[in-house]
Amino acid sequence: MNNQIVFIGKITNKERETWIATITPLLIGAKIVTYDELTTEQKLNIEVAIVANPEPEQLAEFPNLRWIQSLWAGVERLVAELPNAKFDIVRMVDPTLASTMAEAVLAWTLYLHRDMPKYLYQQKQKLWLERDLIEIKDRHIGVLGLGKLGTASAQKLLLNGFNVSGWSRSLTNIKGVKCFSGEEGFKELLAQTNILICLLPLTNETHALLNAQSMSILPPGASIINFSRGQIIDEKALLQHLESDHLAHAVLDVFEVEPLPVSSALWDSPDITILPHISAPTNIRTASELVANNLTHYFEAGEIPEAVQRDRGY
Ligand code: NAP
Repeated sequence: MNNQIVFIGKITNKERETWIATITPLLIGAKIVTYDELTTEQKLNIEVAIVANPEPEQLAEFPNLRWIQSLWAGVERLVAELPNAKFDIVRMVDPTLASTMAEAVLAWTLYLHRDMPKYLYQQKQKLWLERDLIEIKDRHIGVLGLGKLGTASAQKLLLNGFNVSGWSRSLTNIKGVKCFSGEEGFKELLAQTNILICLLPLTNETHALLNAQSMSILPPGASIINFSRGQIIDEKALLQHLESDHLAHAVLDVFEVEPLPVSSALWDSPDITILPHISAPTNIRTASELVANNLTHYFEAGEIPEAVQRDRGY
């Protein structure tokens, strides 16, 4: 077994150096090299790559690659760009990322629950107006996606007193959370949700899942938080639902195009809070520990960590 790992990524040199410098001291019995350091012959010996937005053509130069470790949690681009690759794709699964996301979900759910967008607006109008307070137990939160991030978020919301439901592909069981699956389950969850939180991966099935039709099932006055991928929401349909006052507000961290173009109508909507994809940034320290553990274990035991299932897209 060859113990060299290649780092391939379309990130800045400084970012690459930081990742390599943080992972290297944690690795046992293996060494990280960059793409540029390898000759054609040396590339034949590489079995593992650490990747961050890699070019598929570069990966194709490594015919004996067995698996790639992505530094990011979302892998829709890798799955789409590498349909026929023989190697496994391992994504970032970091409990610290899940708790960071759960914290963001709680923060922005409270923002909507306590009507902060409305009070900010009222302040601009110098308007002294008390709004009805809804008890936290009566606020129904629907979490789409009950994976690593969705489960941590649902549990955090539950712990803080919200009424929590969730939806996933296979029916799951989370204590205290009303769980749904399937198309009927999706509609049932939407119909009873005041604040909808999207933590689904982007796949063929989830692309534009939140469209004019599905959003119309949400009760009047509902709000949406999208913290997973922009393409899951039809942005035009969302604007229409906000303009017609069917929906109250949307907190968006992710967009069809990022950075969000200055020409986007989303910037101008008073009913949208725009965040620059910051709900759960990668923690380089804990992520590096996970990557180093995965790689060390592979070189010691030959085992590849749990990989993405290409047929389902996540
Ligand atoms: P995960 O562990 O793979 O969980 C995905 C969840 O979605 C699972 O519960 C899965 O159902 C469900 N799901 C997938 N396809 C579905 C479908 N067609 N219908 C119903 N449910 C479906 O993913 P994760 O780690 O929680 O991450 C979720 C996403 O968050 C990532 O893909 C990424 O795009 C995004 N993300 C965003 C940020 C940010 O800063 N904004 C940071 C990190 C990640 P099963 O349980 O049945 O498999």
